[in-house]
Amino acid sequence: MTTSEEARKTPSTDTPSTDAPVSAAGSGAGIRPVDGPAVEAAVRSLLAAVGEDPTREGLLGTPDRVARMYAEILSGAQQDPGHHLEVVFSEGHHEMVVVRDIAFESMCEHHMMPFMGKAHVAYVPNGHIVGLSKIARVVEGFARRLQVQERLTSQIADLLMDRLEPQGVGVVLEATHTCMTMRGVRKPGSAMVTSAVRGTFKSCAETRNEWMSFLRG
Ligand SMILES: [Zn+2]
Repeated sequence: MTTSEEARKTPSTDTPSTDAPVSAAGSGAGIRPVDGPAVEAAVRSLLAAVGEDPTREGLLGTPDRVARMYAEILSGAQQDPGHHLEVVFSEGHHEMVVVRDIAFESMCEHHMMPFMGKAHVAYVPNGHIVGLSKIARVVEGFARRLQVQERLTSQIADLLMDRLEPQGVGVVLEATHTCMTMRGVRKPGSAMVTSAVRGTFKSCAETRNEWMSFLRG
């Protein structure tokens, strides 16, 4: 993972937009912790259902391994990524802050198969900044649950708008979906790109162009 912070001039005369943050979907509230024994039983059933013998040597430990794996890769569902943004710093910097190439792994909720790639996140502060590692933690917190890439993208943008109250936010995710590269249309190397813009990233062409130029890198 590489991160970089860069700043450039942006106009300070833009009115912040009134985009409302998405509420309940972002919190992860209401999702129960992974029930290990129930996952083990389900995996044994699944193994039998796909024609395997769950009692053969190579598969004996599989239900337990899968249960522990799900507990780890779906652990974000019980977390509120907002807690990473509880400590913000007052700062008069009003120019774009960009964190590029945040590696993430998530799970497609349509196929329960992984998708992974890079997130690029930017915001224009309006009195508050946050440590760059916290932005990576937010991405990870929302990624570690059953997801669709579109929702993951907007959850990151909405949480930053809500907690940092910046002039605007831009989020771009580029990801490879194993449900697309291993099955179905089987297009290895194809990437899905999703974008969410809030505030001045939506309303101000100059800010949007600056963001695009960072993305082209
Ligand atoms: Zn899928």
